[in-house]
Amino acid sequence: MSESAETTITDTPREETPNPVTEQTQAQTYSLDENGHNAQLIQCNCCPSKMLKPGTVSLVEKEITLHMSRQRKDTDSSETEVLRHFWFVKDMFTFENIGFTRNVDTSYKYLTCADCEQDVVGIQFLEGPDTDGMYLAASRVRYVD
Ligand SMILES: [Zn+2]
Repeated sequence: MSESAETTITDTPREETPNPVTEQTQAQTYSLDENGHNAQLIQCNCCPSKMLKPGTVSLVEKEITLHMSRQRKDTDSSETEVLRHFWFVKDMFTFENIGFTRNVDTSYKYLTCADCEQDVVGIQFLEGPDTDGMYLAASRVRYVD
């Protein structure tokens, strides 16, 4: 009896929910003082070496690719990752302590702890538009009140 073989063609294309680039949102938030500077003392992740006093540097959002943290033993040290939060340090004398890696590349130097040199903690560009300061990776240092 069903003469109306009504085929329900749902030919509306399945709505693709745009894939939000789930970049690892930094779960950690960084405390800033009233001037937008670091509210806490910044130290090396691996040793007690002080890097920056409170109130000296600004947090910037910028995509910079660094080699993987050497703290992560499961990763090959030749791998890189994109980081997005950096403390911008205009003058190297702002640092209490900081070390630089030997130039592997003439276009940048890596920042490392002056005392233990355990990790890549930031970058200084030697050419290009970002040579006016150094970028210390906010996720690779420790904060002390
Ligand atoms: Zn250290």
